[in-house]
Amino acid sequence: PRKEEIIASTLEQKMPKASDPSVKVAVRIRPAVGDAMLRKVSEDSLYVDERKFTFDAVFESNATQEDVYRSVGAPLVKDALCGYNASIIAYGQTGSGKTYTMWGPQSAMVDDPSVSGLQGVAPRIFQDLFSKIQKEQGNSDGKQINYQCRCSFLEVYDNKIGDLLDPTQRDLEIKDDVKNGFYVENLTEEYVACYEDITQILIKGLSNRKMGATKINSKSSRSHIMFTCIIESWCKDSSSKCFGSSKTSRICLVDLAGFERNFANNAGRQHVKEGKYIKKSSSQLGRIVNIVAGRQPDKLDEVPYRSSRLTHLLRESFGGNAKLSLICTIRPDHKSISESIRTLRFGLRARLMKNEPIVNEITEDDVDDLSDQIRQLKEELMRAK
Ligand code: ADP
Ligand code: MG
Repeated sequence: PRKEEIIASTLEQKMPKASDPSVKVAVRIRPAVGDAMLRKVSEDSLYVDERKFTFDAVFESNATQEDVYRSVGAPLVKDALCGYNASIIAYGQTGSGKTYTMWGPQSAMVDDPSVSGLQGVAPRIFQDLFSKIQKEQGNSDGKQINYQCRCSFLEVYDNKIGDLLDPTQRDLEIKDDVKNGFYVENLTEEYVACYEDITQILIKGLSNRKMGATKINSKSSRSHIMFTCIIESWCKDSSSKCFGSSKTSRICLVDLAGFERNFANNAGRQHVKEGKYIKKSSSQLGRIVNIVAGRQPDKLDEVPYRSSRLTHLLRESFGGNAKLSLICTIRPDHKSISESIRTLRFGLRARLMKNEPIVNEITEDDVDDLSDQIRQLKEELMRAK
């Protein structure tokens, strides 16, 4: 066993898994093209070469998009409506089913999920989310809830942030923000009111994604893409004076580039450059996961999130204020075995991370407290003058 596996197994013994952990890791095995080398042995474990790997869930190649959604997507909708930030990240080698799992075929997005059945996790999340929002807004019982949702879609390619909703913007900056952690300056944000608004944005963004050519998959994606939806809600009941309470949550859906070692099959300068970036961002992400997985609870500031755009953008999901579901996708064939093991190892380490999700809520009392503080500060200022 490698060093990090030994560390992982000792840590695992020390820290038994919570019943609703802030970080969950699922594995999805895509259908085999040749001989399948992997065996699922239970709901949450699989064997590779006589070695057992255990996760929060394992989906076999016959699992449906609906199965994956029910286990990974549906809880996220609940969490987001409660005021938690929640992320789903797809990780795996090229051709292992990240894009299929996350978005599904684009044609399926415009159908009703009950018709096509091929929608990925993302469109299902928003179908579910908007149907719940509509129900809550309609159900008055003395309360008045209003929602506002806005979305953005970005790509990280060669450590540069591009706007998938405005491809003329190719090198955007991340700005730190006291209230919300960070934001991407000038990134297009679109307000959305229904499922159809979201699918239009998804389709537009996905068709603007950078593709590279590798042998393994001619449409392989060499960029990381991240779809964000911010949900704000205001709730007033008959007892609220004026404000009531307000919640904000951020849904983040990330489809990472394939991190395989073996990208240099095709010649060409662009390809070499892409390969270098992929290798670097893979090791930066791995480093963050190792540090967060092994860190003491009070040492938040030592994680080098700013070492790359990708890790900066994933700061909340890897050790911060968000619930995370990581979906590790693997190919079951013999040729992919070493990449599959690398992916599973990454998943095991990620599963040791602890995030610190909180309900992002401001209540009338908070507003009263803040008003008091402002009044006191004003008085002090007057006295100082
Ligand atoms: P990645 O994004 O990881 O490079 P893709 O999602 O593009 O991989 O998948 C590669 C190919 O395999 C696509 O043609 C996709 O439709 C197919 N595929 C992936 N996973 C599944 C699955 N679970 N069931 C059926 N087809 C799949
Ligand atoms: Mg892909």
